[in-house]
Formats: sequence, C-alpha cells, structure tokens
Amino acid sequence: MKTHVRALVVGGGAIGVSIAYHLAKAGWKDVMLVERDELTAGSTWHAAGLLPLFNMSYSVSHIHDYSVKFYKTLKDETDLDPGFFVVGNLRMAQTQERMDEYMLYATTAETVGIPYEWLSPAEIKERWPLVRTEDLVGALFHPTDGYINPADVTQAMAKGARQRGVTIERRWQADGFAWTGSEWKVTLTRMAEKGGNLVPTDEQ
Ligand SMILES: Cc1cc2nc3c(=O)[nH]c(=O)nc-3n(C[C@H](O)[C@H](O)[C@H](O)COP(=O)(O)OP(=O)(O)OC[C@H]3O[C@@H](n4cnc5c(N)ncnc54)[C@H](O)[C@@H]3O)c2cc1C
Repeated sequence: MKTHVRALVVGGGAIGVSIAYHLAKAGWKDVMLVERDELTAGSTWHAAGLLPLFNMSYSVSHIHDYSVKFYKTLKDETDLDPGFFVVGNLRMAQTQERMDEYMLYATTAETVGIPYEWLSPAEIKERWPLVRTEDLVGALFHPTDGYINPADVTQAMAKGARQRGVTIERRWQADGFAWTGSEWKVTLTRMAEKGGNLVPTDEQ
C-alpha cells in the first residue's frame, strides 16, 4: 500500500468517491481513498437517491445542476449504469405561504438556469391523476429532477476514479491526523471482520 500520496480522501461514500474522482479528473496524479469498511457502507447506502434541484442556495443549486448533467455521462465513461431516472419533481402546496416558499426556490432555479413550471391543481391532476387536488393551491414542477441509485452511482464514480489512476483501499480506517510542518501524517488501522463485526487489527 502507498505510504505517500498527494491527496488522501477518507471515506468511500458518495462524497468521498466523488472528490477522488474529480481530483483525478482535474489532473491530480497521486490520489488515494481509504474506506474503513466497504464503499457505500455509510449514509450513502441508506439514501433514497432523490436529486432535488429546488433549494434556496445559489451555490448548492449549481452543484445539483452539475451533478444531474454529470450523472448522465457516467454510464458511457464507466460502462456501469448509475440507475438515473429523470422523472421530474412535483412539489405541491396546500397554502399560499407554501407557494411563496416555492417562489423563492424558483428565483434560485431561474438564476442558475434550472427549468421549472408552475402548475394549477387541474394541471397537477393531469400529470398525476391519482392525486387528490381539492385542497391544493398549486405546485412547482422541476422537469429535469429525478432519482438515482446511490450505491450504483458511487460504484460508477469509483470505477471512473480508478480508470483515472486513483487508488482505493478498503478496510483501512483513518485514526489520526497530525501536521508535521510540511505534510499531514495520517495514521491508518487495518480493519477486519470478526464474528460479523468490523474490528480494528494491530496492523497500521
Ligand atoms: C434514510 C436516508 C435517506 C436519504 N435520502 C437522500 C436523498 O433522497 N437524496 C440525497 O441527496 N441525500 C439523501 N440522504 C443523504 C445522503 O445519504 C448523504 O448526504 C450522503 O450519503 C453522504 O455521503 P458521504 O460520502 O458524505 O457519507 P457516507 O456515505 O456516510 O460515507 C462516509 C464513509 O466514510 C467511512 N468512514 C467513516 N469514518 C472513517 C474513517 N475514520 N476512516 C475511513 N473511512 C471512514 C464510512 O464507512 C462511510 O463509508 C439520505 C440519508 C439517509 C440516512
């Protein structure tokens, strides 16, 4: 296992793997990721995989917009299907106050260039006939939203990262970070499965 790298990413969830992938894509040559268990063993395994483009943050909206476009390219790049379905996202409102909140989302979406539509209760029913619309004021619809399989997209990014030279080491836990004055010294402990549990070994 490598003992010196330019960038060490700790944690093999969607975020860590994406960071490793994008560092390599940006031209970083010496990137290693360590994961104490298996890739996607953390929150990523439990996520529903919704990709909501609506939010009130300009920068986060840009990240979402980029992600939606990026995920569409992953299958061609890695031959792994991240399970991305663009089905649209319908946010319904029962009160005018809720619609006001959606207007805030819409202003952010408009600034970033994310498409959205306003729907009346009748238009909501047209789109989703099973919904009861008597008490609805309207809805905000994002046609380019969708859902993705969180584990599959992480594995696809991991493959893309490996293809770009990233080393991924599983069953290594980062236990400490110390700044030596010129570099970070990171202590890693080898993990092993014992009796169905993941436990640290003496190997460091
Ligand atoms: C029930 C549920 C539903 C969700 N639904 C959605 C959704 O629909 N849409 C959405 O966008 N988000 C959703 N989320 C949030 C989403 O899952 C998280 O934001 C995302 O998975 C975080 O990714 P991560 O890589 O930061 O963390 P994680 O996936 O938790 O990855 C962290 C990794 O680091 C490893 N690790 C921890 N400590 C160490 C160490 N010391 N050394 C080495 N490795 C270590 C862990 O084993 C783990 O694999 C949901 C979350 C939950 C729980």
